[in-house]
This record gives sequence, C-alpha cells and structure tokens, in this order.
Amino acid sequence: MPSSPRPPAVLSQIGNTPLIELTRFDTGPCRLFLKLENQNPGGSIKDRIALTMIEAAERDGRLKPGGTLIEATAGNTGLGLALVASAKGYRLILIIPDKMALEKINHLRALGAEVRITRSDVGKGHPEYYQDMAERLTAEIPGAVYINQFANAANPLAHEIGTGPEILAQMDGDIDAMVVGVGSGGTLSGLGRFFKNKSPKTKMVLADPRGSILADLIKTGRHDEPGSWVVEGIGEDFVPPICDLSLVGDAYTITDQEALLTARDLLTKEGILAGSSTGTLLAAALRYCRDQTEPKRVVTLACDTGNKYLSKMFNDFWMGDQGFLDRPRHGDLRDLIS
Ligand code: PMP
Repeated sequence: MPSSPRPPAVLSQIGNTPLIELTRFDTGPCRLFLKLENQNPGGSIKDRIALTMIEAAERDGRLKPGGTLIEATAGNTGLGLALVASAKGYRLILIIPDKMALEKINHLRALGAEVRITRSDVGKGHPEYYQDMAERLTAEIPGAVYINQFANAANPLAHEIGTGPEILAQMDGDIDAMVVGVGSGGTLSGLGRFFKNKSPKTKMVLADPRGSILADLIKTGRHDEPGSWVVEGIGEDFVPPICDLSLVGDAYTITDQEALLTARDLLTKEGILAGSSTGTLLAAALRYCRDQTEPKRVVTLACDTGNKYLSKMFNDFWMGDQGFLDRPRHGDLRDLIS
C-alpha cells in the first residue's frame, strides 16, 4: 500500500510563537510582555484551535479521511480551519453572513474553503441564521462534522496544552497577570485552567469592549442591554458554553477609540502590526500595569495580524469618519501619501 503523503510543514509552524517585552509604553512599576500570536501561519491565535479541534475529531473517529468539516464563521477561526483542512485534505464548508468583507471571503476561497453566504439580518431560530444553517447542513451531509468553536472542548484545550505552557516557560515560570479577551472564551478558559494548576499566583485579567456584557457580569453579577462595538473578535452578548468566567480575577472595559488608538501606537512605538482586539487587550494591560503599586510581570497577546485592518483602523480617513480621530484636511493628497 502506498504510504499517505506527509502533511505540509506549515502545520508544524502553528504555535511556539515569540514573546517579547514592550519597552516604549508607560507601564508604571510593571514589565509588560506580548506573545505574538499574529505570527502563526494563518495570522492569528485561531490556528491553534483549528488544529486541536480537527485533531480531536480525527481522534474520536467522527472525522474520516477526506471527510467534511462545517463551521459558521468568517473570522480567524475560518482562516485557521481553511489552512489546516487544506493541509490535511478535508473539505471545509463555511457559512458566512453577508455583511462580511469581500477580502475575507476571497481569502477563504483562495485557501480552498467552500463559502456559503447567508443573511446577516436574521437571528437565532430563523432558517437562514448562519449557525442554524451550519447545523442543518451538518445533518444533511453524511459524516460531516460541525466544529462549533463555542461549545468545542478542544478549543480551550489548545491553550491549556500549548499557549499556557509556552508562556510560562518563556516567562521563566514567573508571571503575575495574564490579560485576555473573550470571543468564544477558549483562550480565557484554557489559559485560566492552566495557570490555576501550574502557576496559581497568575491572575487572569479580562479585557472587554464597551458594549459587551462580560466585564459588567464579572464586576456586578448583572449586565445592561448589550451594545455594539467596532473591535473584531472579542466581546459577547451571551456567555459561550466553554467560557468559564469564574477564572477571571479582574476586568477592564475598553472603548473602541482607546483600543484602536492603542493598536496604532503598538505599530508606531514597537513596530508590531496587530489587529483591533489586540488594541483592547493592550489598553487593558497598560491600565492594569499603571494601577499597580508593586512591580509585576504582565503578559498579553497580539491575537491577530493588522493586515486586514489597513483600510480601517490604520486609515486616518476611516478613523476620522468614525469619530475616532480628527479628520485630515479634506482633499489634501499629501495626507494620503505621507
Ligand atoms: N482576537 C481575535 C482577533 C479573535 O478572532 C478572537 C476569536 N474570535 C479572539 C481574540 C478571542 O479568542 P477566544 O475565542 O479564544 O475567546
């Protein structure tokens, strides 16, 4: 029997990301470190969970060679899944609401994913709601596996067995606080569990966009009506099943404006091009650092690369239109090219 071809080496490039100290920000009495998850091959921390979720489905026998994977996302999880699925020879169907940027859809299709566009103006319970469509399609296609990152135990596992041990080793076993955001809650729950067992002094600090319910829920046990926010990938209007909020020791609410300006500062001060959720995490980490009276060693994450935000938060005109920045002089092309 011919041996099966070796999987592309790109899969071995997921994880083991660098961790660097930020030296150009005011961090009060603390030292602040950033783990560069934007350097994963698919450009985000989600490559890690794409690999563990697919490998878990292989291990428990639900996913057969050449089988079909289904997920409802246009975000980084979709890119990670597309990368791993194409490397391992699986068919991937992504159900995507029609408000998503064309660049993202083109990127997913270029990676070989099948993209099905559905309505973004309908909610849970409607037949065209993207998550309900994913469930229905899974039932229709024999042997198809619905990844469902919000309820998949192999999502936090990626951080418990990968991200957490890497950070502790890179910090020489000495870390006082870890600042994270919550989208699915995988990062929080996985890192939280790891540190509780292996480094109990490490406090988990939540960075939450204004409008999300999570920071309020942690601080007061209740929350107002969820609002909306511009930052992508974090903040929730519900608590996902895999998200264990009891692991959080402290929480900060960060406005879109503070998050985006902080992400821009990260590029100009430290030369790191990261996305909008990184801005929220870094802004919360900086607040936490400056609130301390004792020196602490604090870590946060660059969750994804800033490439796909170049025409948004790194564009002064877009920032001006959103009211996040004074608008540059109208019609002066020097502003565009300087
Ligand atoms: N940042 C970005 C850019 C993301 O896409 C996500 C996931 N949606 C997160 C942070 C949050 O990670 P988690 O799903 O593990 O809570």
